[in-house]
Amino acid sequence: MNQPLLEIKGVSFSYGPIQALDDLHLHVDHGEIVALLGANGAGKTTLLKNIAGLLQSDSGQVLYRNRNIERMEAEKIVQNKLILVPEHRQVFGTMSVLDNLSLGAYHHYKKTGKKEVAREIDKVFALFPILEERKEQLAGTLSGGQQQMLAIARAIMAKPDLLLLDEPSLGLAPLIVKEVLNYVKQLRDELGVTILLIEQNVSAALKIADRGYVMSHGSIVKEGRADDLLHNPEVKEVFLGHT
Ligand code: ATP
Repeated sequence: MNQPLLEIKGVSFSYGPIQALDDLHLHVDHGEIVALLGANGAGKTTLLKNIAGLLQSDSGQVLYRNRNIERMEAEKIVQNKLILVPEHRQVFGTMSVLDNLSLGAYHHYKKTGKKEVAREIDKVFALFPILEERKEQLAGTLSGGQQQMLAIARAIMAKPDLLLLDEPSLGLAPLIVKEVLNYVKQLRDELGVTILLIEQNVSAALKIADRGYVMSHGSIVKEGRADDLLHNPEVKEVFLGHT
């Protein structure tokens, strides 16, 4: 009885006349890293927003832990440990690293208190030592890669079971991209977080992923094991020439 942690069944969504999602199906199993690939405008961000409850689809189902969350409020979805890290690493630039992390814990610890938050911050620091070194620094003064790590670390404070990452390496230098994606893999390997990842650096993403989906015009046009996609001539031609 191995139900997927997340299952998208026939989801469609339009922004007015623009059909962004068109009868889309995919699933993510417990403990997987799944890469969601596709050209600009394919609908990837729209899908993650839909899963996180930031926009409601026109039809279809989003099953999370076998329950339809399509009409659930975004805040409730966060409480259910399904966390989105949006594009452009939206950290609070005028707040310290520590305060950014404390905010990430808000939902879980408003009842349990500060000690629990401090314990969780220590765990995050063990995983991201650079953030401990810079804990008093204002988030806006961190490098791009460090801000991305902070955005992910803040999401970890909410103890996700499923993490949705929207282009974590956007605008980062190639070496830093690799570093950030290695951290992503560590989250799964060490904390057991299941991950659905949008990534333009296709070969780097497929190297850390178990499986991948290729999206075009709002639907899935190809899926497979990450290794197979990495060596697939069509995928190579469309994406890997550019990465
Ligand atoms: P990117 O990699 O550029 O972020 P994407 O695959 O994430 O692309 P989406 O951002 O989901 O794609 O966009 C899917 C389609 O919906 C595109 O045609 C886009 O122009 C359109 N779209 C996205 N957001 C809006 C919006 N707020 N209003 C109208 N159309 C939108």
